[in-house]
Amino acid sequence: NTFQSLGLQDNLLQAITDLGFETPSEVQEKAIPVLLESESDLVALAQTGTGKTAAFGFPMLQKIDINSRTTQGLILSPTRELCLQITNELKHYGKHCKGLNVVAIYGGASITDQASKIRKGAQIIVATPGRMKDMIGRRLVDISKIEYAVLDEADEMLNMGFYEDITEILSHTPQDKSTWLFSATMPKEVSIIAKKFMHNPTEITV
Ligand code: AMP
Repeated sequence: NTFQSLGLQDNLLQAITDLGFETPSEVQEKAIPVLLESESDLVALAQTGTGKTAAFGFPMLQKIDINSRTTQGLILSPTRELCLQITNELKHYGKHCKGLNVVAIYGGASITDQASKIRKGAQIIVATPGRMKDMIGRRLVDISKIEYAVLDEADEMLNMGFYEDITEILSHTPQDKSTWLFSATMPKEVSIIAKKFMHNPTEITV
């Protein structure tokens, strides 16, 4: 299988070539066509290191409207390190998407600086739940028009006690968005989140 056969556009294929990725990983092979072809929700059981950032990142980059500055994609991840890592990867994957703005929102850094980056218009926000909830409460960020929400490392986020924050954040997003959940394990708490926030998700396991 090739990245081209998964249905990715030329500007993304060019980035893949630049990065030296030769073949899609298993999670990419399973998730990318599903996410590109449908507006379906997705539950993916996948560990870190399997290439899952690209599995949700490329479809999101292909589907958002790069000419709009509205926030269309939100990725929630458990830690600041992961948040920065995902942001960095998305910037590489989207290096040929002219006008793309990906902004990281996380605790322990200046909220003013993050807010000013958001004000310039970010099509994609990558956030930790606590700081995200805080910024929504202060009306520094608007996620009322997002079309894609990713819950990355959902099991870790729930382990860290972010259930309430995630619920609060998702209550500020449209009902008809697509939700893509990635988790290394599927404990009861993750199934509860999936049942509560997702509609008939496609399930993949790697
Ligand atoms: P992740 O599981 O998303 O944290 O990705 C793990 C690492 O694998 C990252 O450094 C990616 O840049 C890299 N990677 C992702 N997909 C591929 C691929 N298809 N071929 C080679 N490397 C990849």
